[in-house]
Amino acid sequence: MIKSVEPIIISIPRDTPYLGPLEDGNKPTPQGYFIRPGNKSIYHLTDQSVLVKVTIEDGTVGWGECVAFYAPEIVKTIIEELVGPLLIGKDPQDVLMIYEDLYDAMRVRGFFGGFYHDALAGIDIALWDLKGKELRQPVAALLGSKRYKKLPGYVSGLPENTIDKRADLAKKWIDSGFDAFKFASAVSADGIMPEMEALRTAVGSKPKILIDMHWKFNAAEAIAMIHKLNQFDLYVAEAPVKPEDIAGQALVVRSVPVQVAIGEELRTIYEYRPRFEQLCMHVIQPEMGRTGLTSMWNICQMSQAFNMTVMPHASIGVGIFQAASLQVAAALNNLVYHEYQHSIFDKNLKYLNTTMSCSEGFFMVPQEPGIGAEPNESLFQFVKK
Ligand code: MG
Repeated sequence: MIKSVEPIIISIPRDTPYLGPLEDGNKPTPQGYFIRPGNKSIYHLTDQSVLVKVTIEDGTVGWGECVAFYAPEIVKTIIEELVGPLLIGKDPQDVLMIYEDLYDAMRVRGFFGGFYHDALAGIDIALWDLKGKELRQPVAALLGSKRYKKLPGYVSGLPENTIDKRADLAKKWIDSGFDAFKFASAVSADGIMPEMEALRTAVGSKPKILIDMHWKFNAAEAIAMIHKLNQFDLYVAEAPVKPEDIAGQALVVRSVPVQVAIGEELRTIYEYRPRFEQLCMHVIQPEMGRTGLTSMWNICQMSQAFNMTVMPHASIGVGIFQAASLQVAAALNNLVYHEYQHSIFDKNLKYLNTTMSCSEGFFMVPQEPGIGAEPNESLFQFVKK
């Protein structure tokens, strides 16, 4: 039975802001937030997320984590004041029922996603972790399939400030054994086309190149851009148009000879469903720190009915939701790659007890009971009060 539910805000300093150095004149607020002009989206100077610690009567702890690099205090309050106390005395083996009941509790208040669902995501991951620990099985096994013990990762992001340095970095990753990488148009300050050309020239014809278009374009611009990029053999175009533009997403898919990926910002089957039905993508990119495990599993299973593939997204976090994401990925029939957010994943591994790793093109999936990752003491130096 659940005895306590505790949200903990983590804020880890970083040398270079996420996605690379700040643009000239881009000044963070006193709270540390800034907007990238390239994609008009907000970021924070540190790597913030919210851990969820759920303890049961025998002292066993389940760990979850919410994506919360923006205003983590909101997610913490939702867990502390609203939903955490409702879980006391419940059985984590009932994780599906608990998730569904918590979703039900706010749906007619108009909360179908957003901060509320981010809070549920962290709780849901912690409960699956507990379920696995109690049953002594990794979560992938509980889902019914340990299809992958190691699974392919693609390198995400080239955080350098010139095209030449980014091309060198891409080449280094390919030389180290990866066969796919993604660059971010939001910070292609010298032009997206010159960058694509430089990257292709640097790595040769074989590696797969993905671009994150960061919701920057309207459908017509995106279609023209993808055709141009494909002169240099583009593998996947991510997030070509605004998240709400369902018609635009579908038009892009119908108009280009390249796979389109979307979905990091969507949290439930209800948000995915209209994009499935209108064939808005070839590849889905659910983000575990926003969906939680139950919802991500549901989304991925539904994607099979539309013959889509899965490349789970990897956002800013200490690695707890990343481990949960690997558990789901390990059980999927339609997995192609998992995103490898190296600038976050690598530096945070030392704060975890885990066998999870990523090198030479592959993630190792933890085989221990639960999700297979727990914070160690050193992480708690970064607790934000
Ligand atoms: Mg993205």
